[in-house]
Amino acid sequence: VEADRDRESGSRGISYEDVGGLHREMQRVREMVELPLRHPELFERFGIGAPKGILLHGPPGSGKTLIARTVAAMTKASFFPVSGPEILDKHYGEAEARLRRIFEEAEKKAPSIIFFDEIDALAPKRETVVGEMEKRVVGQLLSLMDGLRARGQVVVLGATNLPNLLDPALRRPGRFDREIMIGIPDRNGRLEILRIHSRRMPLAEDVELEELADLTHGYLGADLELLCREAAMASLREFLALGSNDGAGTVTGEGSREEVTRAHFLE
Ligand code: ATP
Repeated sequence: VEADRDRESGSRGISYEDVGGLHREMQRVREMVELPLRHPELFERFGIGAPKGILLHGPPGSGKTLIARTVAAMTKASFFPVSGPEILDKHYGEAEARLRRIFEEAEKKAPSIIFFDEIDALAPKRETVVGEMEKRVVGQLLSLMDGLRARGQVVVLGATNLPNLLDPALRRPGRFDREIMIGIPDRNGRLEILRIHSRRMPLAEDVELEELADLTHGYLGADLELLCREAAMASLREFLALGSNDGAGTVTGEGSREEVTRAHFLE
């Protein structure tokens, strides 16, 4: 159900062009996920097993989920997003059974990508957890990954901000044995991300995205997206304040231009 819902909404229409910066990271993800999904025979011919699990780690908002959705969309793989904390939520029933069902479904609908967001919540170091349920869930996840038969055809992606909290057994060969750091974008990365999130906005002539990229040291993808959205909102607010409402619900922005200016971004 989740995969269907996802195919219908979120992931459709996303492409590699929606990911700014992160070229080396994307290249590695494609090599490890896209290549085995598309050409499992290549891995066999070279006598190596296709990777089963890949851990994406980096700060929140750096694009880990975006990358997972993009690869799924581009490879037309079924996408099974799973939130670590949510699956442990008792309201939804038994976590182990739910995990098992997700893996079964993913194998049935292969090629598939199972994406565990905040996997640290789901699989913390077992010596640090107190609850029996949590311990069982880690064990269950390990055995489900070991049991994946359609190697290369079901890829498990995990995302975390805290890779050191993960149970080390999860990072052994045959499980999450590849790790990709999704870091903070550099100036060019920021410029590309700003271009992506402002491309549908009516930008005024005085907006120079290069300048904004220079000014936003330390901003992550999610911050830059928010910056663009807030700038557009500032412009929209001005438009509404200066414009008039003709009573029939049509808003005309007389006195204010329908554009997002440099000042809006700085504000
Ligand atoms: P979390 O750890 O909180 O789950 P995350 O690393 O998975 O965070 P995303 O959910 O992928 O972060 O990013 C949030 C939003 O920020 C994305 O939907 C996207 O709009 C924007 N974003 C993040 N990184 C990038 C990027 N590199 N290029 C374009 N947009 C980005």
